[in-house]
Amino acid sequence: MTTSECIFCGMARNPTHESVIYRDDRVFVVKDINPQAPVHLLIIPNMHLNSLAYVGPGQVPVMGHLFVVAEEMARREGAALNGYRLSLNQGEDAGQAIAHLHLHLLAGQPLGTMG
Ligand code: AMP
Ligand code: ZN
Repeated sequence: MTTSECIFCGMARNPTHESVIYRDDRVFVVKDINPQAPVHLLIIPNMHLNSLAYVGPGQVPVMGHLFVVAEEMARREGAALNGYRLSLNQGEDAGQAIAHLHLHLLAGQPLGTMG
């Protein structure tokens, strides 16, 4: 897939994209179109990285920033105190559907144990 065909690259390139609820110079955040919890956000690097397999030492700052923004978004959604789950689907067995690395943030109800 080229970045011109990537749905998340399209959002990253469009500063006024209506789905984007947060953006800065490194990441942006959208509400998941098919939410699995009352709060289901995707925290997405602006730069196209297919998956963790494409992350090296040069991407450590942006990867760290994903987690900082995730905590900030959880706070904004009122979920930081009760708790939330971050997940990253890596590759086929995990069901990764979009080949542009992203973190899921799930919150707003008891999420059960890991599964
Ligand atoms: P993954 O399986 O980790 O690749 O997750 C892809 C996620 O992106 C799924 O939870 C989808 O519901 C979500 N998704 C797909 N298209 C869009 C979109 N246009 N806007 C927001 N979320 C989307
Ligand atoms: Zn992309």
